[in-house]
Amino acid sequence: MIVIGAGLAGLAVAARLLAAGRDVLVLEGSDRVGGQICTFREGALVVELGAEGFVARSRAVPALCALLGIEGELVDQLTTDTYAVESSGLMLLPPGEAARRLGFQVPVEELGRGIRSLRLGMGQLTDALNARLGVDQLRLGSPVSAIRGTPGTLSVELEAGAVETASSVVVASPARRAAAMLANGAAAPLADAPLMSNVSVNLLYQRGEFRDYPPGSGLIFPDRFGSVGLRALSLVEHKFAGRVPPGQALVRVFFRPVGDALSTWPDERFATEATLAIGHVLGAQGEPLRTWVSRWADALPVFSPPYREQAGAVDRALQAQGVHVTGSAFHGAGIDAAVSSAEIVAARLGAPAEPR
Ligand SMILES: Cc1cc2nc3c(=O)[nH]c(=O)nc-3n(C[C@H](O)[C@H](O)[C@H](O)COP(=O)(O)OP(=O)(O)OC[C@H]3O[C@@H](n4cnc5c(N)ncnc54)[C@H](O)[C@@H]3O)c2cc1C
Repeated sequence: MIVIGAGLAGLAVAARLLAAGRDVLVLEGSDRVGGQICTFREGALVVELGAEGFVARSRAVPALCALLGIEGELVDQLTTDTYAVESSGLMLLPPGEAARRLGFQVPVEELGRGIRSLRLGMGQLTDALNARLGVDQLRLGSPVSAIRGTPGTLSVELEAGAVETASSVVVASPARRAAAMLANGAAAPLADAPLMSNVSVNLLYQRGEFRDYPPGSGLIFPDRFGSVGLRALSLVEHKFAGRVPPGQALVRVFFRPVGDALSTWPDERFATEATLAIGHVLGAQGEPLRTWVSRWADALPVFSPPYREQAGAVDRALQAQGVHVTGSAFHGAGIDAAVSSAEIVAARLGAPAEPR
């Protein structure tokens, strides 16, 4: 079995297949596993550069953690209190209101319930999945360019020229990449899959630099900050315990880049805008001790009803060819959807989600 993409979904399918005693080869285009999950760890610091958690109702993610023996590492969000910046100061929002205003793609009943993560960040999950793969079962720096053939005899061509064969292939890449790979055009409708970009800046400060450091998990910026793409910020150590050294504060600022900012602004510009905004709303006096800018161009799928329908139709057509798509690009935004999707595909391939 070949799995294309070592993001969470690809790794989760591979783990389920391996647990069921199947042969697996995972081909990852980049030089690291995890995809949109990317956690930086250093000493007492845990800094999320990609996804920070999964919806609290998730059943699939704890089940996967159980399979990996890390369910004891799951952690809950400490507080879901979120503020809006008003002219009079910070105003506590009703539960769920921040997620609603930010347009999060979660069901109404989920709003305000917060997220869960792992003690060492979401990267702890992809690290544990990665540890399941032997050296012969994962190839990094191996972008796939094409999938050809008929059910039962599929060939997977790598950009570097090599060809691998398999009876079934699992595609766990973003949708537009999948469209480009399917040489017979079966996924062509996904070539224009709607996507959003995201930039976030993590800034580490001395806690004493702040005039106001409210006890909540974060705030959403007022519309006037939207001209530079600023949306919200998280007060990381209020969200999850044990991620920031004592006496320090980690603030994560989220941008939805406007105009051509993503291609024209250097990292320093995003860091400067984030620093200015933190100075304005939280009264931070000095410069941050460290900053991490992470850019996610065209990363987040937008599940409009037409796209959902299109992705479903492509999924069904590909299954008949022995190709199975999985991940949040096809089956719903976010980590829970990515893992649930992986579970369904693994079960279809004879590896049901039974924790050992
Ligand atoms: C900044 C940010 C914050 C987020 N926050 C949250 C959050 O708090 N909660 C939440 O639920 N979700 C969040 N998400 C979304 C969540 O991270 C994703 O839905 C999830 O991680 C997607 O996993 P995936 O495996 O489906 O896809 P991906 O993570 O996109 O993995 C796809 C993999 O395929 C590889 N690939 C691509 N092309 C090829 C090719 N040709 N050949 C081989 N490999 C290829 C890629 O390199 C990548 O490793 C966030 C995303 C971002 C970017």
